[in-house]
Amino acid sequence: MKAVVIHAAHDLRVEESDVPPVGAHDVKIRIRAGGICGSDLHYYHHGGFGAVRLREKMILGHEIAGEVIEIGAAVTSLTRGARVAVNPSRPCGRCRYCLQGQPQHCFDMQFYGSAMRMPHVQGAFREILVCDAAQAIVVPDGVSLQHAAFAEPLSVCLHAARQAGPLLGQRVLVTGAGPIGALAILVARQAGAREVVATDLVSEPLTIAKRIGADRVLNLQEDPTGLDHYSADKGYFDVVFEASGSGPALAGALEAARPGATVVQIGLGGATTFPLNLVVTKEISLRGTFRFHEEFAWAVDFIASGAINVAPLLSAAVPIDDAVRGFELASDRRHAMKVQIAM
Ligand code: ZN
Repeated sequence: MKAVVIHAAHDLRVEESDVPPVGAHDVKIRIRAGGICGSDLHYYHHGGFGAVRLREKMILGHEIAGEVIEIGAAVTSLTRGARVAVNPSRPCGRCRYCLQGQPQHCFDMQFYGSAMRMPHVQGAFREILVCDAAQAIVVPDGVSLQHAAFAEPLSVCLHAARQAGPLLGQRVLVTGAGPIGALAILVARQAGAREVVATDLVSEPLTIAKRIGADRVLNLQEDPTGLDHYSADKGYFDVVFEASGSGPALAGALEAARPGATVVQIGLGGATTFPLNLVVTKEISLRGTFRFHEEFAWAVDFIASGAINVAPLLSAAVPIDDAVRGFELASDRRHAMKVQIAM
């Protein structure tokens, strides 16, 4: 089978790879769609992010859906031919955090396509994937596998929304309108937000943000003062989803947040500076959010029922042989929101 393998920054290859054996509790899946994530792009452009560096070659990819083509002897939950979204999160189930109900903090997490541990955990941009049957969540007939492959990033945003508390009636700011910011807009709308404003430094993703439900979008590259009037009288927004990972974006969000607001930091970033005095004097709750757990199955349900429509976010699907072109396209925010590898 073919797989999309990163060897080093700017060295992405489509290579032959072995198909692992199917264990008793496993299923073999013909992967059909794999979304390129910001973390995949970090490996492609920079060979990693922060302290997480590529130290050996690794198959990328963790936003995937496909069809079950073989089931292990002990599997009763799935049948051959089932269409599934695959949960790339594989906590150990036995460590302290798993047992405390925080499996996203598992000591022994084996998340697909991650260089956090050595040996690296191989990813899922491959024609055939063998995984535990419990990772495969059935997608109803009539729901496209391309849309099902959005379950992973959507579950990130559902987990983030839970950090914010109830969104019904809330005024929500989303900073950074890439795929995660856009999905956060969809989640905020579904959860009953009263008003949603989105910011970015590029116009094209903001056009999509407007189309999918943002009441107002602000290009802060063109108008750096765009958020200023929301900062008057100590701020305006009840909830902020910071999806850019940029220090200046967080600083601007803290200015625009009202006293008592919750700011959920979704975007990853390195060391930065921001006005701590605003967190203190406005009694802002600054919360991180990392990955997801039970939200993955929720995400599949929201996509399957049509409660959340991810279709406007899919920019292109490129054949696996053109993976490098797909990665280049996914890196161009003026022309792509979410790019998928088609297998
Ligand atoms: Zn664990």
